Amino acid sequence: MLEILNYIGGEMVTPASGEYFDNIEPATGEVYSLIPDSDERDVNLASDAAKAAFPAWSTTSPEERFAILMRLVSLIERDLEPLALAESKDNGKPVSLARSVDIPRAAANFRFYATAAMHLANESHETHGAGGVHAINYTLRQPIGVAGCISPWNLPLYLFTWKIAPAIAAGCTVVAKPSEVTPMTAYLLSKLCIEAGLPPGVLNIVHGTGPKVGSAIVAHKDIKAISFTGGTATGEEIARVAAPMFKKLSLELGGKNPNIIFADCNYDEMLATTVRSSFSNQGEICLCGSRIFVERPLYERFKQDFVERVSALKVGDPNSPATDVGAIVSKQHFEKILSYIDLAREEGGTILCGGKAVTAETQRHREEESGDITTVSQRLSVSAVRDLSGWFIEPTVIERLPHDCRTNQKEIFGPVVTIMPFDAEDEVLAYANSVRYGLAATLWTENLSRAHRISAKLESGIVWVNCWMLRDLRTPFGGVKDSGIGREGGFEALRFFTEEKNVCLRL
Ligand code: NAD
Repeated sequence: MLEILNYIGGEMVTPASGEYFDNIEPATGEVYSLIPDSDERDVNLASDAAKAAFPAWSTTSPEERFAILMRLVSLIERDLEPLALAESKDNGKPVSLARSVDIPRAAANFRFYATAAMHLANESHETHGAGGVHAINYTLRQPIGVAGCISPWNLPLYLFTWKIAPAIAAGCTVVAKPSEVTPMTAYLLSKLCIEAGLPPGVLNIVHGTGPKVGSAIVAHKDIKAISFTGGTATGEEIARVAAPMFKKLSLELGGKNPNIIFADCNYDEMLATTVRSSFSNQGEICLCGSRIFVERPLYERFKQDFVERVSALKVGDPNSPATDVGAIVSKQHFEKILSYIDLAREEGGTILCGGKAVTAETQRHREEESGDITTVSQRLSVSAVRDLSGWFIEPTVIERLPHDCRTNQKEIFGPVVTIMPFDAEDEVLAYANSVRYGLAATLWTENLSRAHRISAKLESGIVWVNCWMLRDLRTPFGGVKDSGIGREGGFEALRFFTEEKNVCLRL
């Protein structure tokens, strides 16, 4: 069985403990590779390698960094298909999504920051003071040193590279940890880094659990900045350790995003996008809109059409081109999502569609009943060689729950949404802002004034008006409230990985 290796000081190495744990394919529930059970010793080695590489890397020209990062882009694009297959197998997401979103975005992250590094400019200020004093102030922006990057399982290579690319482009060296739930594409990336000629120690990847590897990165005295994406509870723990050490912190945390739909919206566009913004990647995107508020005159029509569209989504083998919704990433997360569906029932919610786990058998039945012959034959041929005993959940739509119940306040992070009617603008704003989170919001209206008015009042780091997940990598990305601190994207991320120094020169 394949043993994943750490990448430290330019070498692929085994963990100090010599121990491994299982990597499970979510669609089948079977172990298919082994993950290094690394610990503080491996983090120390990685940090030493990063520290040793820093003086040379931080003084390479932006052009040299550009050239190496662009070689990495070409290699990711060359290996798009094997990387997409690996991502889908590791995470459970449809391979079509990995092919069209995850892997292209990983290449785009490196391309974006390879070029951005060549455009980062510093300010200067000419000063005229009393008594004819004349000075020039200029700001040096110096790479901060060794940076720690820790990422989650939902968009594995996409989010891992979203941190690593700006850190390396800014001249930092890195100790990085991908999620132990989805380590495979980070492992494949380390091999591409060697092939691209990234100097040893510039990027070090240590695999293992959060409590052993993640916490050792956060607590390491030589690691000066922590860029973290993951759950709010983990973010709190990281802040507790890193803040007293005065480390720079960027925390991208959980969300419970509102999707606000006014009756004057472009209905067809809204409906198609709302299906995507609810259930893409099994609803396991921090930006998915899980609380859908619909203006009352549109409510019944929306409910009927939405439930019909959602019921038609194909849950199944991530490998099949017909699949819309793949497997839930792990048994633990699968059970958590089902427990939230039970909670919604206890709280008086009505399940309009979904609400259950799906087995390969029930899915086949559903297709036969619907007379979808093409898909049945496709599914049968795939199922004939694959035993899909993993973790699948039907896309679930729930209504008749108040905005302040637990189902509507807690992050579920799965294929589960609630729909609720509203009558007035102030009312829906209060509902939308009633959660502890503030990551992203979606707004559907053709009324321009209202769009501006509500966007300004939403407690959210990102507002999408009449669209969703339309990303421009130059824009600031991040949340307010318990969704985190700091912004990724654009020059913000390059600035995060640098320290500003003002030099005042009296003339
Ligand atoms: P998680 O917090 O459990 O884990 C994230 C990473 O942190 C993993 O690599 C994990 O091993 C590591 N970790 C765990 N404990 C740690 C510790 N004590 N110290 C240091 N590192 C530790 O999150 P997850 O379950 O992997 O991801 C899902 C969560 O991520 C959801 O809450 C989701 O909203 C959030 N998320 C946020 C964004 C965003 O941009 N804001 C993007 C994607 C996911």
